[in-house]
Amino acid sequence: AAERLAGKTIFITGASAGIGQATALEYLDASDGKVNLILAARRLEKLEELKQKIGREYPEAKVFAGKLDVTESASIKPFLENLPQEFKDIDILINNAGKALGSETVGNIDAQDIAGMIDTNVLGLINVTQAVLPIFKAKNAGDIVNLGSVAGREAYPTGSIYCATKHAVRAFTQSLRKELINTKIRVIEVAPGNVETEFSLVRYKGNTETAKKVYEGTEPLYADDIADLIVYATSRKPNTVIADVLVFATNQA
Ligand code: NDP
Repeated sequence: AAERLAGKTIFITGASAGIGQATALEYLDASDGKVNLILAARRLEKLEELKQKIGREYPEAKVFAGKLDVTESASIKPFLENLPQEFKDIDILINNAGKALGSETVGNIDAQDIAGMIDTNVLGLINVTQAVLPIFKAKNAGDIVNLGSVAGREAYPTGSIYCATKHAVRAFTQSLRKELINTKIRVIEVAPGNVETEFSLVRYKGNTETAKKVYEGTEPLYADDIADLIVYATSRKPNTVIADVLVFATNQA
């Protein structure tokens, strides 16, 4: 894997926490620090902290940390255009930014929460993909990894909008892969079960007690478990695409 990853430029949305952050570290670990990372999220201070940590542990790695809210569609192209030259030629896109907001029945979901989930998980992911695709098409190479979810394979009550967004991610990912079938661009969905990250804290709007309960009872997946699969999928031989990864914690029903 190290050989195939060396010199690659990897763009991770939602890199300030959870799976995105773990994925950045996993790419460094798998490549002995020989990758270029574009770390994007809204909390620039978190990205800067991560960049400093990486600088200490992997002095060879090149890291660009930039503020990007994927829901601000007009800011995506300028973000890419303003990248320092050595980061412009992206090889791997990790569409990771995403969230659940609340856990209400359909009659009670807050309109802002509905928009927040759709704007981030669906429109944000589509817009970032559209902005990066020309780079991949120009060189007929590149990997796109979209974070789906078990919620994109089944639907549960009080998760209607989140489930709908992750079903949309799955459909979009499958269509895109088929559209690009005669290219060397690989499109991959990674769909995790329950992963212990800030996800639940965001979902329950800072209520730490409720957030903690989500992970009680069985051992969840951890962010680095997902990062490991993302790095594995994107470091296969170019004739292979691991198009679809569904991963549960061992005890998750
Ligand atoms: P976290 O809440 O720990 O991390 C989410 C990341 O997304 C943060 O870095 C956050 O950064 C970023 N983000 C949120 N909104 C935006 C935005 N508008 N623009 C840019 N970045 C944004 O969650 P996870 O790491 O668990 O989730 C990552 C992905 O995995 C999501 O797509 C999620 O749906 C999916 N997933 C998670 C599961 C789980 O159980 N945890 C299960 C299945 C899928 P910031 O706030 O700084 O912008």
